[in-house]
Amino acid sequence: MTASQDTAPSRPFPHRHLLGIEGLTPDEIGLLLDQAEASVAQNRQVDKKRSDLRGLTQINLFFEESTRTRTSFELAGKRLGADVINMSVATSSIKKGETLIDTAMTLNAMNPDLLVVRHPHSGAVELLSQKVACAVINAGDGSHEHPTQALLDALTIRRRKGRLSGLLVAICGDILHSRVARSNIHLLNTMGARVRLVAPPTLLPASVERLGVEVHHDMRRGLADCDIVMMLRLQSERMHGAFVPSIREYFHFWGLDYDKLASARPDALIMHPGPMNRGVEIDSAVADDIDRSVIREQVEMGVAVRMACIEILTARLRHPERVS
Ligand code: ASP
Repeated sequence: MTASQDTAPSRPFPHRHLLGIEGLTPDEIGLLLDQAEASVAQNRQVDKKRSDLRGLTQINLFFEESTRTRTSFELAGKRLGADVINMSVATSSIKKGETLIDTAMTLNAMNPDLLVVRHPHSGAVELLSQKVACAVINAGDGSHEHPTQALLDALTIRRRKGRLSGLLVAICGDILHSRVARSNIHLLNTMGARVRLVAPPTLLPASVERLGVEVHHDMRRGLADCDIVMMLRLQSERMHGAFVPSIREYFHFWGLDYDKLASARPDALIMHPGPMNRGVEIDSAVADDIDRSVIREQVEMGVAVRMACIEILTARLRHPERVS
């Protein structure tokens, strides 16, 4: 294990939990991104492990299926030296009828230092955070927020474009069910980017313009002159009823292919939070285009961003002398 480096955040973070991007200041978002930047190089070395979080316990509590987010949080905690436990709903007592609050109280009694929670209901992670003594990171709650996804998207963009401010970002597809879209809208607006939502009316929340975004119902017009094209998965598991006529028609009008991409800037980057539905919201060739797509890089930045969030939220335990 690599000796502990001084990775204390450069300035205090005034929140005990990370429940969403809404309400964070540009300075707080900048702090999280700068801290993440420092881990990117470490994650490319052969020895990826530090000992800063030795003795701390992180529990990943996932009430909803996840592959990349759970793995990413697990790697992040382990690379910082924490003991990481994964609890998934399939093996937990939730299936036996335990309430969310009882689960929180049970876990709390085990004295974890950090809980990473994903839940299918919007607001459930915040509720749980009020019942436990440790820091909580929201790993996605219903269609509400997925803050670490927006942060990793921002880090990917900032590394490629050198800035966030002034960029034109199109977020396309199933906005209605997407916590990724919500967190990204808050982050990009806060950091001075311009956001366009491009979707059929059935997949947009009512009065979405109030969030300070432009809305387009045509892909070619919506992508015109964009610096970033962010595609979203069609979230059929959250749909009760018919939101799109057919997958074939959806791809025809809303799927990203080279023809529609031609409206964006020639150096526009293609992003997707995964998991991708190839041939539904994105054409396979576009997704795999090594000159345009940064989808693989988003996954890489995910580990660095989660390390940063863990480090920053546990800083008050590790460096109490620096907390004002
Ligand atoms: N992985 C992201 C999420 O958990 C996006 C998606 O599932 O489509 O929200």
